[in-house]
Amino acid sequence: MRDLDHRRLGRELGLFDTDPLMGAGLPYWLPDGAVVRHTLEEYVREAERAAGYRHVYSPVLGKRELYELSGHWDHYRDDMYPPMDVGGEQMLLRPSLCPHHALIFRSRTRSHRDLPFRMAELGGMYRSERSGVLGGLTRVRAIQLNDAHIFCTPDQAVEEAAGALGLISRAYADLGVRAARHRLSLPGGGGKYVADPALWRRATALLREVLEASGVPYEAVEGEAAFYGPKIDVQITDPAGRESTLSTVQIDFHQPERFGLRYTGPDGARHRPVMVHRSVIGSVERAVAHLLEEHGGAFPPWLAPLQLVVLPVGEEQEEHAHAVVREAVALGLRAEVSGRAEGSLGSRIRRSRLVPYQAVLGAREAEDGMLAVRLRDGRRPGVLPVAEFLRRVEGRVRARGTALWEPA
Ligand SMILES: [Zn+2]
Repeated sequence: MRDLDHRRLGRELGLFDTDPLMGAGLPYWLPDGAVVRHTLEEYVREAERAAGYRHVYSPVLGKRELYELSGHWDHYRDDMYPPMDVGGEQMLLRPSLCPHHALIFRSRTRSHRDLPFRMAELGGMYRSERSGVLGGLTRVRAIQLNDAHIFCTPDQAVEEAAGALGLISRAYADLGVRAARHRLSLPGGGGKYVADPALWRRATALLREVLEASGVPYEAVEGEAAFYGPKIDVQITDPAGRESTLSTVQIDFHQPERFGLRYTGPDGARHRPVMVHRSVIGSVERAVAHLLEEHGGAFPPWLAPLQLVVLPVGEEQEEHAHAVVREAVALGLRAEVSGRAEGSLGSRIRRSRLVPYQAVLGAREAEDGMLAVRLRDGRRPGVLPVAEFLRRVEGRVRARGTALWEPA
């Protein structure tokens, strides 16, 4: 079996690394990795914007009292960094974004006409994992989370949660990610869950309704809920068959209570909203780790750090190759020349094996304004005019998804 470990692929492709002086579980992103991450983050923001979300930014620190109010301090303290004393106050690196978003919602008077309020943020959160379990991008101490909280009326909660599931399945199609199964995660024994049986029952019933309506098969599993409520987990498997959670959807009655959230109803009275927590791609770190392993480093064309390589056969075609690359870059594509100085044509093609589009430029092609096109999967669509080839690559990149080429 090919070694599909994302740590090896990430090093080999120059995407990310760690340094003992920065610390274990704190990877940094190299330029090619940063391109993948940036493209993924922009994709998520765009998909959310189109689905009616509004983006916010909130700080990665908060006062200890904030997490006492949210319940994290009582139920989640073992996974949090110890408090820092700052000017007589205790500050914490946040273990989640929910408390900040609840405060942002609370900061203004809200009317039923403002709901659903879909508040999204790609933000940092922190987890004090033990150093023994850290590795690559899947167990990290600093996490960039694709998070959102939908503040809505109780009547809107099922539709909003179902909308989030829809957003997740569209993203999986664009990214070439397969959901292994859907899990309804319920509380188990032990004291790590907030006690309010009526609210748990209500939230669980609504999530079952969402799953039944979506038609996806699911299993209910005890002991996997968040401390404040049940959730739908979209599970993925790695090449070794190990399962983990990538995306989640939760219906939460607890945090709105804790934070005393209100909106004014059509009756003029004050009502309690529901919070739907959801993440489409989970953390950016886990998503990139999974994409690397799922595709063996051959990212879908729209995500590939380098999308097009132009290969001049001889030195006489180098200038022409640079002109093609300039044209591609002007169209928004990520393109480079791999010239004669980098070795024989055969070895340059082999080195470009993960680049979706490879265009060979010989004397004939240069003279005619053509390119001999090869795809990463071995297909050869033929010799095409430069403009037509670039237009088709641009079309594939814009369309997203995993397909490399469409018949003309
Ligand atoms: Zn949340």
